[in-house]
Amino acid sequence: MTRHEVETFCQETLAALRGITTPEQLEQFRLTYLVQKGRIRQMLDQLRTVPTEEKPIIGRLLNDLRRTVEEEFAALRAQLEHATSQQPTIDPTLPGRPLARGSLHPVLQTLDRMVDIFVRMGFAVATGPDVEDDYHNFEALNFPPDHPARDMQDTFFLRCTDPSGKPLLLRTHTSPVQVRLMESMPPPIRAIIPGRVYRNEAISARSLAEFHQLEGLCIDEHTSFADLKGTMVAFAEQMYGSGIAYRFRPSFFPFTEPSAEMDIECFLCRGKGCRVCKHSGWLEIVGCGMVHPNVLRACGLDPERWQGYAFGFGIERVTMLLAGIDDIRLLYENDIRLLEQF
Ligand SMILES: [Zn+2]
Repeated sequence: MTRHEVETFCQETLAALRGITTPEQLEQFRLTYLVQKGRIRQMLDQLRTVPTEEKPIIGRLLNDLRRTVEEEFAALRAQLEHATSQQPTIDPTLPGRPLARGSLHPVLQTLDRMVDIFVRMGFAVATGPDVEDDYHNFEALNFPPDHPARDMQDTFFLRCTDPSGKPLLLRTHTSPVQVRLMESMPPPIRAIIPGRVYRNEAISARSLAEFHQLEGLCIDEHTSFADLKGTMVAFAEQMYGSGIAYRFRPSFFPFTEPSAEMDIECFLCRGKGCRVCKHSGWLEIVGCGMVHPNVLRACGLDPERWQGYAFGFGIERVTMLLAGIDDIRLLYENDIRLLEQF
């Protein structure tokens, strides 16, 4: 065994060790070089055959090699074990984590259902601006100048004004869209108007400052109160179940004449009386009436030729009745425990 052979062996051994990247390669290195009969031990055993004057040099070379290899081997093993423990362990038998899934808000679900029913009956869907002028929100709808609904208490007025100098406002109902429809297209008209409305009211269990309405308008040459009644009954039967008892009561709205409110038998207690129907057995579901001749005239239609009916639902109220909720604020608290039930 010459000194040159020993130096070559040392270089090869270190190269083999430093090229290792996996625990398997490391184990193979250990079995080849480091065990009792491994190659380093074999080289040390051959020291006996080396000439005496060469022994100190070759002995030091081999001892240095053994110490270096042992140190680097230990460091490399620790490094590879650490890398293995950092890898994520996957258990394919674990049940999956459920993904939370959102849904439409209960008020929107109600609105969609109502829109579906009216669309099947042949109504188109119309929309209009949330910011309105006095003319479309009040004047064209036959609100006299001293009507209480024009009072500052009920309406959110804006600082900007329309061309006539009157302040713009947030619409207090979806009825201005009726006016815009009649102004923009010739009859016959058959449309529903879902949308958000605003009233300057204190927020309580019964009222919000911002809520939703769905209005309907039908204008034609031979439209009567019987058409209105038939439409409302057909809607109620599809929404609340066929054969439901109903009644119409006289009412008042500035933009309809005659005006009525429709009640249906309380579907929670079947008319016996309960908390939701305030023990009357009846639930008020819609205000309606024949379009007032003054409104037709304001929109450029001749009341002698054209007649029509209009109706309006409060969507929050319909939702509350369907769900048996008695505080309107619950709908907008975004409590997931309530929303999950829809
Ligand atoms: Zn009841």
